[in-house]
Amino acid sequence: MAKQEDQFKKVLSHAKEYGYVFQSSEIYDGLSAVYDYAQNGVELKKNIRDYWWKAMVQMHENIVGIDAAILMHPTTWKASGHVDAFNDPLIDNKDSKKRYRADVLVEDYCAKIEAKIDKEVAKAAKRFGAAFNKEEFVSTNGRVLGYQEKIDAVLSRLAKSLENEDLADVKALIEELGISDPLTGSKNWTEVKQFNLMFGTKLGASADTAMDLYLRPETAQGIFVNFLNVQKTGRMKIPFGIAQTGKAFRNEIVARQFIFRMREFEQMEMQFFVKPGTQKEWYEQWKETRLKWHLSLGMGADNYRFHDHEKLAHYADAAADIEFKFPFGFKELEGIHSRTDFDLKAHEEFSGKKLQYFDHEDNQNYTPYVVETSIGLDRMFLAVFSNSLQEEALENGTTRTVLKLPAVLAPTKAAILPLVKKDGLPEVARKIVDDLKWDFAVSYDEKDAVGRRYRRQDAAGTPFCITVDHDTLEDHMVTIRHRDTMEQKRVAISELRNIINQEVNVKAWLQKM
Ligand code: ATP
Repeated sequence: MAKQEDQFKKVLSHAKEYGYVFQSSEIYDGLSAVYDYAQNGVELKKNIRDYWWKAMVQMHENIVGIDAAILMHPTTWKASGHVDAFNDPLIDNKDSKKRYRADVLVEDYCAKIEAKIDKEVAKAAKRFGAAFNKEEFVSTNGRVLGYQEKIDAVLSRLAKSLENEDLADVKALIEELGISDPLTGSKNWTEVKQFNLMFGTKLGASADTAMDLYLRPETAQGIFVNFLNVQKTGRMKIPFGIAQTGKAFRNEIVARQFIFRMREFEQMEMQFFVKPGTQKEWYEQWKETRLKWHLSLGMGADNYRFHDHEKLAHYADAAADIEFKFPFGFKELEGIHSRTDFDLKAHEEFSGKKLQYFDHEDNQNYTPYVVETSIGLDRMFLAVFSNSLQEEALENGTTRTVLKLPAVLAPTKAAILPLVKKDGLPEVARKIVDDLKWDFAVSYDEKDAVGRRYRRQDAAGTPFCITVDHDTLEDHMVTIRHRDTMEQKRVAISELRNIINQEVNVKAWLQKM
């Protein structure tokens, strides 16, 4: 646990030191759970967004994008169920006066049992060596089975009480499990209450005519209300999808864990409209496709797992999360939800406008079912960033900090370094920058000894360093150094574009899907 916390602290300080993420309004001591993306962060975020957009929109003939407004007519949120049902169960500790999400307290309790399972597995793996079969071990070992049974029982009781809105039972569960305030150890809890997560605001100048609005808590509704507009103007045939990336806002209570849970964050969502009855197939297909997208980035198949929901949201008939191994354990990164026809039907009812599709093949009207894929861009950023940050022991006994970002996502693809700041080397280096910048984000760096510049670029996540030396003036060749292998090669300046392109072009990465 302590190791995990240390790793997480390193992620936070590295993100700041290398210009990725800053606390919002830091000079005023910050605003809790709100963050700003800095000069490198904004590029990484944009590259992740583009990687998603290319995979989802550009590569699918039947998926198109929109960019709906953050502010929507307030009835939207009545229809979607967010006014009545977008709540988190909260519990206060009477001694510490701290507020927690009751379900998260129980889930964290289960995560601790899960850590015990991991320990047993690690112990057994050591004992059995190469002959170790993890799957067999976890399905037969008595202790592990006992732990798993306990987790299952606790989570299924939690799911049932939340489903039945039996908040008294959620509190009873917390007490029975002996869960204490993580900060103080106190078990003096209040009752569990529901708390709506939407941020309210007002539209209009005068107090009596102003209209109460909400900042959208998810981007999906902007897609639903535009369903027919897009279908008609794009002449879309079912099955088809509408994709969107954009800001969403939630007044989160548990606002720890850096950019994992923010009050203002960005979602990348796609709503796929299908014929009623086919939703299960599409749901399975999108689960698979989305996992493949993640795996294409090469961040380790062991770092992902599916978690099927026991407690379904009010709109869903099936739902699963793709969980990622963050520095604080496996947590939700993306949700895939079979949303039925709940949203379109609700908007039909509340707006009085028909939101149906005429199927020419079947010669009938119907309200399409929807399968949604929804991923938090900031969470994806954290997954990529934390997974890439590594301390490496080098042969010469020193260590280096290296941010092994997938090259396709790296903010800067190459840094061009003149060996010294004189003898015409900066001019040649600048020329290379001016040439490459048409195709790639590149930077120029002439300060400090070249070894230090290499380390600086390693830590910032730049996949290539290109060094111009005195020989370059004669032979038009440079040294290209690879971030991950530290291998250095002498290549012609005219080859640079090709070499860089091979490692950073989106096609090569997405083709791994
Ligand atoms: P959680 O259970 O962690 O609160 P959720 O199930 O409420 O998440 P969804 O409503 O399914 O999340 O939203 C889809 C995606 O949006 C999530 O998978 C996550 O990546 C992202 N997301 C949701 N809430 C936040 C937040 N407060 N900060 C950053 N990303 C978020």
